[in-house]
This record gives sequence, C-alpha cells and structure tokens, in this order.
Amino acid sequence: MVGHPRDAAPFDVVVVGAGLVGASVAAALAGSGLRAAVVEPTPPSRPGDDWDSRIYAISPASAAFLAEVGAWERLDRARVQPVAAMCVSGDAPGARLEFSAYETGVAALAHVVESARLQQALWQVLEASGARLFAPAQCAGLDVGERAATLTLADGTALSARLVVGADGAQSWVRRNARLTARAQPYGQLGVVANFALAQAHRGVAYQWFRPDGVLAYLPLAGDRMSMVWSTPAAHGRELVALEQAELCRRVAAAGQGALGALALLTAARAFPLQRLTAQSMIAPRVALVGDAAHVVHPLAGQGVNLGFGDARVLARVLRARGPADPGDRAVLRRYERARAEAILAMRAVTHGLVGLFGQAGTIPSRLRNAGLNLTDRLPVVKNLLVRHAVG
Ligand SMILES: Cc1cc2nc3c(=O)[nH]c(=O)nc-3n(C[C@H](O)[C@H](O)[C@H](O)COP(=O)(O)OP(=O)(O)OC[C@H]3O[C@@H](n4cnc5c(N)ncnc54)[C@H](O)[C@@H]3O)c2cc1C
Repeated sequence: MVGHPRDAAPFDVVVVGAGLVGASVAAALAGSGLRAAVVEPTPPSRPGDDWDSRIYAISPASAAFLAEVGAWERLDRARVQPVAAMCVSGDAPGARLEFSAYETGVAALAHVVESARLQQALWQVLEASGARLFAPAQCAGLDVGERAATLTLADGTALSARLVVGADGAQSWVRRNARLTARAQPYGQLGVVANFALAQAHRGVAYQWFRPDGVLAYLPLAGDRMSMVWSTPAAHGRELVALEQAELCRRVAAAGQGALGALALLTAARAFPLQRLTAQSMIAPRVALVGDAAHVVHPLAGQGVNLGFGDARVLARVLRARGPADPGDRAVLRRYERARAEAILAMRAVTHGLVGLFGQAGTIPSRLRNAGLNLTDRLPVVKNLLVRHAVG
C-alpha cells in the first residue's frame, strides 16, 4: 500500500476512486497548491501486449485535457488510432449520415485508445504528482463536519479533507454515504465488446449501424484491427457472448454489412449491462461527484468517459480559480455543478432520445429516424453543429 496507515494529516481534497475520471481530477490538481490524496481499492496492473477489449473514443476536448495533465504523451502512439470519418447508417436502405474530420475542420473526430493503457498513463502521472496514494485501500466511513469531512479507511486510517470527490463509479460509495440518491434505469440491454483483426483496411473510419436488434459500432484500432460495441437486448447479447469464435465473426461481419470484409477474433467477447443513472445532485456538503458516480449514459454516443473528463476538467478549474475560499465551500461547489449542468443534460437527452427512437418498432418511428439521418446528412450546417457537439 502506498501511503501511511493511521495518517490523519489534513488534506484539501481526497479523491475516492482512481478510475480514468478520478485519476484525472487528482492529476489536474498537481501544482495547484492543494494537498491531495487518492483512495483506490484496485490500483492498475501493467497492461500486457494483448489488445484491451475496453476501448474509448476520446474526444478532442478530452485529449486536450489529458495532454494538459501530462497523460496523453505517455501513451504509445502506435496504439492510438485517430478517427478520420464516421459513417452512421439507419435501419432502412440508404439512410446514412457521414461526418469527416476534414469537413468539420478538426484534425480527428476522436482518438481510439485502450482503457488499461490510458489508466496506466494517468496512474504514472499521479505517482509523480505529489498526491498521496492510498492503494489498495477501502473506505469504511464518511463523517461530514462543518469545517472538514473525515474519511475513515478499512484499516483505521482517518483522512481529514475539506473536499471529498466521489469518483467511484456507478455504484458510488461516496454518493451513498453523502446521502445523495440516484435514479437508475436499466435499459435491459448488454454492451457486447470484442476486438477483431480485419481483412480490409479501415482507413480510420468508425461505423455505426442502428439495427432492429440494437446499435452496432465498429471503432478503428491501430493496425488492421477494430473494436466492436454492440448494444443489444440482453438475451441477444448473451447469445453473442456464447457463440463459437468463427460464428461470432461471421455474425458481426454480416451485421456490419461486410464493410470491413472478413473478421478474425482477437479478444473474447465480454458483455456489460447498460443503464442510465442520474444522481439527484452532483454536490452535497463537502462532497462533489464526478464521472459515472454522477451520471451514466448509454454508450451509443461513446461519450461516458468524455463526460467524466469534462467534470474533472471543470472541477479542477473551479478549485484552482477559487482564490482564498475553502475548496469545500458550498459556493465553490455550486459553481462546479452549474458549469456542468448544460453539457450533462444535453448528452443525456441526445443518448436517451436516440435509444428511444431506435428502440421503437413500427413504421412511423422507423420512417422518422431514417428520414432524420438522411435530412441531417444533406444539411451541412446542422451536421457540423452535431459534430462540434460530439467533439466537445
Ligand atoms: C460497453 C461500454 C462501452 C463504452 N464505451 C465508451 C466509449 O467509447 N467512450 C466513452 O467515453 N465512454 C464509454 N463508456 C462509458 C465509460 O466506460 C464510463 O463512463 C467510464 O468508465 C466512467 O469512468 P469513471 O472513472 O467515472 O468510473 P469507473 O471506470 O467505474 O471507475 C471507478 C473507480 O472507482 C473505484 N472504486 C469503486 N468503488 C470504490 C470505493 N468504494 N472506494 C474507492 N474506490 C472505489 C474503482 O476501482 C475504479 O477504479 C462505455 C461503457 C460501456 C458499458
């Protein structure tokens, strides 16, 4: 364990959870003069050579933030794939929407990176940041007082913090112990992920198909590889995961209309239950929530972790700009919550709206969504606005 047992040194900020979002909050506070600590039960292990099946499409805004905190340049460039274009198809013939980085005036629509490698890069930044790392460590109690909160770890260590940041994911312990409720709504779907080697070059194009059995995405991976996310009803998801390799490859290639030719499986399929979740508030006395602890969105827009990096960036900015104010001061925390409200609401509305529209059977919803895709493709102004929103 890094850190010292029974250390009750007062911290300005204690971040609970060093997933991608929590680690980025602590990294972004380096050099701010705030005394920071991080508590994490499972510190990352060194990734091997295999390709991680957890893949993220990192938006340009998130990539800029990760560069600012010093994590981006620690990634092996040979394993980072820029997305040059995106092709979205509806469930009627010819219903398509195409975006390109060139038309939109950005260098890349996104960069596809492996979760474990990004996690490792952020952890290295944390180790060099001066933040105290308590890892592996479990939280046992949270007591919020007027001037500070006390976080007690399972080994009895008591950490005094003026602000506790809950970055501990969808089942957030901090959220629960801060007595914040959350509205969770399971979609009854699984996100099935797997990586494949390709017979045909992807040329940096990401594909997405809105199909009667869910939303299938191919994200280009460095080299002739791609990563699939198929958000699909749970029974179909379980069936996909149980398929024999050759049959899975055949099904995924056929569902993707053979866009990248024959596929060969690189990493076994895994499934994640999909839900949407909204915390009643992002703040409570001496507590701020970031990332999935505050909001979980459907992965069809590939924006969950990007939304979390947005929280991290804004929280760090607000804390740095607070002047002499206490970092856990209610007015400071309100500034953070207000600054995030619009982006979170918009992302929630877009993803949930699309899930609803494409999840409905029947002719009218089908005509509407497919006409929407075609129309948007012919209206460059609307299309560019959509892309600008997605690239952050
Ligand atoms: C199938 C699928 C595909 C996705 N694809 C994308 C994509 O392409 N792009 C994108 O932007 N998003 C995507 N997402 C969403 C993304 O995975 C999440 O939004 C993101 O991982 C949230 O990060 P986080 O750091 O907030 O939480 P988590 O990743 O859940 O991290 C939480 C951290 O807290 C720690 N922790 C847990 N409990 C405690 C505790 N009690 N005390 C201390 N620490 C604790 C955990 O060990 C972990 O390190 C996808 C999600 C799914 C399911």
